[in-house]
Amino acid sequence: MASNCLFCRIAAGDIPSTTVYGDDDVYAFRDTNPAAPQHILIIPRKHIQSLADVEVEDAAMLGRLLLSARRIAEQEGFAQTGFRSVFNTGVDGGQTVGHMHLHLLAGRALHWPPG
Ligand code: AMP
Ligand code: ZN
Repeated sequence: MASNCLFCRIAAGDIPSTTVYGDDDVYAFRDTNPAAPQHILIIPRKHIQSLADVEVEDAAMLGRLLLSARRIAEQEGFAQTGFRSVFNTGVDGGQTVGHMHLHLLAGRALHWPPG
């Protein structure tokens, strides 16, 4: 855990969040500034800056992160209607929090391409 990292502190329970799902590897919570009726962030409990920083040894965690997206989509009832899954990475990717996170957006028709 990086003690100066917002999402590490959220995963540790030091900063409150609305839990959607959690296990040994990943934690999911509601985005406080939702861009869709359902906006959930899924993070690895391990501190990794971004998708640009993952290593081969992170492969199992990455698989679990994606599997948790499917599980959450079913749990929250949008697996059938559809959803958007996004990793913003780095400055041009629009990443504002330096702990890798997968956005799950659902509950309305989403536009493509994004801005
Ligand atoms: P990104 O811009 O891809 O780095 O996404 C960061 C996301 O984190 C944004 O959608 C923010 O609304 C969200 N966010 C920031 N602080 C919090 C927080 N304390 N709890 C929940 N979501 C947050
Ligand atoms: Zn972190």
